[in-house]
Amino acid sequence: DGDGVPGRVRVAVRLRPRNGEEQVADADFADCVELQPELKRLKLRKNNWDSDTYEFDEVLTESASQKRVYEVVAKPVVESVLDGYNGTVMAYGQTGTGKTFTLGRLGDEDTANRGIMVRAMEDILSDVSPETDSVSVSYLQLYMETLQDLLDPANDNIPFVEDPKTGDVSVPGATVVEIRNQSSFLELLRLGEAHRFAANTKLNTESSRSHAILMVHVKRSVVREDVLSGEEGEPLELGRPFRPVIRKSKLVVVDLAGSERIHKSGSEGHLLDEAKSINLSLSALGKCINALAENSAHVPIRDSKLTRLLRDSFGGSARTSLIVTIGPSPRHRGETSSTILFGQRAM
Ligand code: ADP
Ligand code: MG
Repeated sequence: DGDGVPGRVRVAVRLRPRNGEEQVADADFADCVELQPELKRLKLRKNNWDSDTYEFDEVLTESASQKRVYEVVAKPVVESVLDGYNGTVMAYGQTGTGKTFTLGRLGDEDTANRGIMVRAMEDILSDVSPETDSVSVSYLQLYMETLQDLLDPANDNIPFVEDPKTGDVSVPGATVVEIRNQSSFLELLRLGEAHRFAANTKLNTESSRSHAILMVHVKRSVVREDVLSGEEGEPLELGRPFRPVIRKSKLVVVDLAGSERIHKSGSEGHLLDEAKSINLSLSALGKCINALAENSAHVPIRDSKLTRLLRDSFGGSARTSLIVTIGPSPRHRGETSSTILFGQRAM
């Protein structure tokens, strides 16, 4: 199967359980979807007797644990990051369907609830060696094409740099914090979340209207096997001591802005600008993922800041997982349908 295959995007769909309100208000109505996890299929109800069937790499029901979600969605990406490749895990879906629950949950109340960011860091910290390797983190928010540093609220418009030759992206102005243990990472996520809330209050917006981007940089000291085996054309020198080199890779976790369409009526001015900006970046992302899925030579990476920022983290040798999150309510069938189609185009 497609585990860790570079280039191709692995797509999972996750259904969240009905919330309290939906249990009461929609008690007489069936869910708009029916999941067949063993078949990796999802049926979207069209009416009482008919439905459309879609296949995904992974279908996660409302009873799928956070642990299982991490294992099927993120673990292959984390493992390839530890092997020196860049990787991305993204969550896409309507606001309220579980993107932040899936990615950002800290699990303070119950460690079983820990989300992908926390589990990924646990795996990374347990694999690296503290003497020779380093793990560091930046935490950013992309709002209306402006990149903000969630670890330094004063840093609210950071430029980023793309190396025209290698395509490598760096954000030299962002705060980078070295992480030595899990508790300091949790502390940093809490701080970032608090800064995000404060920044968005000031901007009179909500966190669902921006993309949150966690970047985990891994630097490892390794003995380069490609050099040892002469793969790069370097002759093997017998008796030469193994010289370790620094190998860098990064894991990017993206909690995307809510994908819901903002109704034109009622939104104007600022809200409309926000909506346009979100549409632009999500559709640019969709086009890029789609181009990868179709093996197209042209990946329209330049169409938005989001895709430019992610350019070295998907495609090429990078591994990418996309989790699309949906809710069960028949009232949101339209949004659920467009989320499912976004995921389908990525495959
Ligand atoms: P989003 O980030 O997509 O807007 P959230 O992650 O904030 O959505 O989830 C909305 C609400 O639903 C939260 O109260 C969250 O705890 C709950 N929720 C989401 N997914 C699940 C799940 N798989 N199991 C239980 N509760 C969930
Ligand atoms: Mg959220």
